[in-house]
Amino acid sequence: MPGFELINSQEKKEVESIFTKGGGTLFRHSYQDLRKKSYKVAEFEKNFKKTLKSKYALAVTSGTAALRVAIAALNLKNGDEIITQSFTFVATIEAILESGCKPKVVNIDNTLNLDPLELKKKITSKTKAIIVVHMLGTPAKMSEIIKIARAKKIKVIEDTAWGCGGRYGSKYLGTIGDIGTFSFDHAKAMTTGEGGMLLFNNKNFFLKAKAWHDHGHEDNKRFPRWKDTRKSHGFNFRMNELQGAVGLAQLKKLNKVITFQNKFSKKLKVKISKLPIEFRYYSKKTYPTEDSFIFITKNKNIALKCRKRLLQNKIGTKILPEAISWHFAGDWEHIKEIQNQRKYLQKSRKLLERCVSIPIYLKKGYKVVNKIAKILKDELS
Ligand SMILES: *Cc1c(COP(=O)(O)O)cnc(C)c1O
Repeated sequence: MPGFELINSQEKKEVESIFTKGGGTLFRHSYQDLRKKSYKVAEFEKNFKKTLKSKYALAVTSGTAALRVAIAALNLKNGDEIITQSFTFVATIEAILESGCKPKVVNIDNTLNLDPLELKKKITSKTKAIIVVHMLGTPAKMSEIIKIARAKKIKVIEDTAWGCGGRYGSKYLGTIGDIGTFSFDHAKAMTTGEGGMLLFNNKNFFLKAKAWHDHGHEDNKRFPRWKDTRKSHGFNFRMNELQGAVGLAQLKKLNKVITFQNKFSKKLKVKISKLPIEFRYYSKKTYPTEDSFIFITKNKNIALKCRKRLLQNKIGTKILPEAISWHFAGDWEHIKEIQNQRKYLQKSRKLLERCVSIPIYLKKGYKVVNKIAKILKDELS
C-alpha cells in the first residue's frame, strides 16, 4: 500500500526533467532530437530489472495489461486452459478471458495462494499455463508449483502485483516462473498512478511481449519507426514517459516500503502469537512483503467481531473478511465462464471468511502495533 504515501519532490523532479531536459517528450519512442537522451520508460525498465535481478523488463500501462501481454507472449491459442487461484483480484481472470483462453480456478491452501495439491488434480491435457498470485505479498509455494508445471510442460506466470521486492530463496518474486507481472496502481507498494511491468529471463518471450504490446512493432533499429518490421498483430499497452519518470523515483523507495512492512508484521506477530489464531504459511527461506497483516481466526463470527472491534478503534480492515467480493472468484456471478466452478470454490470461501486483514501504512509507524495487539488481546483472549 504505501507507495503513494511516499510521493514527494523526488517524483516531481523526475517528471519535471521530462520538460526541462527532454523537451516535453511524453512518448517512449522516437523524437531523438527533441528529447536529448531523456528516456524515462527505458531507464525505469533498466533499473527495475537490475533491482530484481532479471534479464528483460517491459513496462506497460497496468498490472492487468501486464497479465494480458504475458499470455500473448506465450503464444497460447483460443480455448487453451489457464489455471489460476480463487483468491486474487478480478483482473487475473479478466486477462485470461480477454486472451480467448479458458480460465480454471483452483482452491487456496494455508498460504492463501494456489494449493499445489489441488493444482495437480485440476491439470488436463488442455492446460497450457498457470497464473500463480503472491496475494498481498505472501509467496505461493513456488518450488512445488514449478515442479508440477515443468513435469507437464506448462508455463508459469507469477502475478506479482503484490510481492514486488519479496524473495523466495535467493530469487525475487516474479523471477521464478517464466514471466513475472507487476502492478503500479495507486494501491500497490510502488505506484505510477496506473502502470505495470513484466520480467522475463527468456529472450523469445520478451521479444514477443515487446512487439505485441506495441502493435507488433519489433523496434528494429535498422529502420525508422514508420518502416519498423512486424510478424504479428498486437495491441497498445505502452507506458508513457510521465509514468516512467514517477516509477524511477518510486523504485528507489521500494526497499524502505517493504522493509517497514516486514518488520511491522514481525513485531505484531510476536505480540499476538499466544492468541487462538493462525498466520499464513511461508517457509523460512522466503521474504514476504506484507501489504496487509492477515490472521486467520477459528470461524467467521470471530473474524467479523475482530473487524468490528478494530474499526471501532479506527484501525481499518481491508479485503477480508467483508470485502472479498472483488478478490474471491467464488463471488463473481457476473463471469459466466467460471460459474461451474463456484460450488467447488466454497472451500476457499470457508477459509477466507475466517481471515482478517489489516493494511499496513508507513506513515502510521510502528506505534500502532501495540494498539492493534491490545485490541486483539481484548477481543480474543
Ligand atoms: C492490482 C492487481 C492487478 C491489476 O493491476 P492494475 O495495475 O490495477 O491493473 C492484478 N492482479 C492482482 C492480484 C492485483 O492485486
